[in-house]
Amino acid sequence: GKTSQNRAEITCTTCPYCGVGCGVLAGQDGTIKGDPDHPANFGRLCSKGSALGETIDLEGRLLHPMVHGKQADWDSTLDLIAGQFSRAIRDHGPDSVAFYVSGQLLTEDYYVANKLMKGYMGSANIDTNSRLCMASSVAGHKRAFGTDTVPGTYEDLDEADLVVLVGSNLAWCHPVLYQRLVAAKQARPDMRVVNIDPRRTATCDIADLHLPIAPDGDAALFNALLAEISRRGAVDKDYISAHVNGFDAAIEAAQACDPALSGLNAEQINAFCDMWIGTPKVVTVYSQGVNQSICGTDKVNAIINCHLATGRIGRAGMGPFSVTGQPNAMGGREVGGLANMLGWHLDIENADHRAAVQEAWDSPTICTHAGLKAVDLFEACASGKIKALWIISTNPAVSLPDAGNVAEAIANVPFTVVTDIMARTDTGDLVDVLLPATGWGEKSGTVTNSERRISRQRPFLEAPGAARPDWKILCDVAARMGWADAFDYQSAADVFREYAALSNLGTRFGRDFDISGLGDLTEAEYDALAPVQWPVRKGETPGGRFFAEGGFYHADGRAKMLAITAPQCVSPEAENTFVLNSGRVRDHWHTMTRTGKSARLSQHLAEPFAEIHPEDAFALGLRDAGLVKLSSRYGTATLRALISSKVARGEIFVPMHWTAQFAPSGRINTLMAPAVDPVSGQPATKGGAVKAEAFGAR
Ligand code: SF4
Repeated sequence: GKTSQNRAEITCTTCPYCGVGCGVLAGQDGTIKGDPDHPANFGRLCSKGSALGETIDLEGRLLHPMVHGKQADWDSTLDLIAGQFSRAIRDHGPDSVAFYVSGQLLTEDYYVANKLMKGYMGSANIDTNSRLCMASSVAGHKRAFGTDTVPGTYEDLDEADLVVLVGSNLAWCHPVLYQRLVAAKQARPDMRVVNIDPRRTATCDIADLHLPIAPDGDAALFNALLAEISRRGAVDKDYISAHVNGFDAAIEAAQACDPALSGLNAEQINAFCDMWIGTPKVVTVYSQGVNQSICGTDKVNAIINCHLATGRIGRAGMGPFSVTGQPNAMGGREVGGLANMLGWHLDIENADHRAAVQEAWDSPTICTHAGLKAVDLFEACASGKIKALWIISTNPAVSLPDAGNVAEAIANVPFTVVTDIMARTDTGDLVDVLLPATGWGEKSGTVTNSERRISRQRPFLEAPGAARPDWKILCDVAARMGWADAFDYQSAADVFREYAALSNLGTRFGRDFDISGLGDLTEAEYDALAPVQWPVRKGETPGGRFFAEGGFYHADGRAKMLAITAPQCVSPEAENTFVLNSGRVRDHWHTMTRTGKSARLSQHLAEPFAEIHPEDAFALGLRDAGLVKLSSRYGTATLRALISSKVARGEIFVPMHWTAQFAPSGRINTLMAPAVDPVSGQPATKGGAVKAEAFGAR
């Protein structure tokens, strides 16, 4: 609106794609440059970020509310939604309604959605596509540290002597962080990089050692490392005795574990242990290859165990470091944007925490138990328990495992709403009501990146058609349900102020890492907010690292090492022959609603593919670029074969982005089992099991 018109030609904002959270300078004419002053990227951008200007046209945009396929006005549509949600709660109780939201949302949107569902509707049935991204890291952090607190910062990658990448194709998925690592390695030739991944990805270009681990062999490898740390006397006994519980049990479990389960030989494991144990300044970076697994949380804790045992945490160039997939996965964690969390790092299970949050919100009710996590939420839709469902800024009919059944489950809910920027998505096509949201470049708010840095997304374009900000749409529904006063925000800054001012609530429970220092920003100060790392407390220097001197958030102030006893999980079922791995390609983002608009981005890889080892291809009678049919009990997909020794025998890799719109027969999640990690509820989308055959073969 007016603010963007009055602003100088160039707007400082933040890239809406990955969790690196790069600063962007955007011109109203669509020119895009990296922000040299932003501490996440210092001016660098990757291919996706630099193509942002090609994705902001209005083609395909949803510009008006739609009810059953017909254009509608806001007032009657909002009345309809409020009426349907109120009726479901009255007739079937609060747990009959649900929101499924997104790591694309700004913190302000996320906060309002959570306040509405948890403090007013009275259910915790609000989960997010971030469940697919980092839920295992959150659960692992909570088990080890007591809270979901990321210990380190990006600077640690510059300062480490050894960077170990686990389940992370950083070169394609967090490209600017990768470029930073490349620059650090050029500046300091003694620096070493180890890449642990079943595939030989582009990230191997920088690796001194590639360990082609077995699928889900990570915990066995880190157990082997922990046993070796103990055997070689590399334990930091002072740190353990002052700050850590669970050491003996963790060591015992590690010693009992068979290192061969990692899929690596003794020589490879020894080489890794020599480097890790011999290099005090080590950062272990991990991502979806660790998280997206039925033992994801155990893998996270197996990694953290090694850092705790050696006291290598929270000091310059040392620590475990989870990089998040989405632009605001971290902001969602801060506002309690998962079905099993409250805001400000407080716990739903704790009655005192619940009471404190209810008091802060002055709300009529508060959820009493954890809500349904993503996969369970859509199962509840299928079984008829959910009567009203609102999906915001995400496309679960493509992105969740067993996607075909998820689509049927959505269609089975009596009243469904989707808020999106696009008129047609696989999910939007299934629902009763479509609501047009403002998109990147039009909306205003904050996001938090993987290193806890809060950064502004600022508007530089007019909102098109009747599109509105997500927080505003949620407030308008809340007002119609009778809660106008509690949702009477005038601006995104107004929402942020409330969230930040209340964030010191956790101090009562020993959580001393709030952002209350930002609780009284004026509109102008919010508008001008420079990227800042939390904690941000009055009178204290913001940011920094955690845990070098202990100070963990379990009740006794100590960390916990976990005994990891059952480390290998993937075993293709007898009738199937391949482990199905899925992931990103370099130039597309999620289900391509934005990146699919840029012809340039599609030049890198124009269609989905099934990457398969030459010997497996030979055995199946497959030719390169021939078609391969993959099938599981959940569905089938037909893709072009990419024959390559970058994948191991017995494994097939397929990218996750393509939707029905772009590749009707190439949707990988229609094949994926809805298996989840039992602790985090994160789907195991890297450990499917499929049969493969040459398409058309008899
Ligand atoms: Fe955007 Fe991530 Fe690329 Fe940075 S690295 S420009 S945040 S997609």
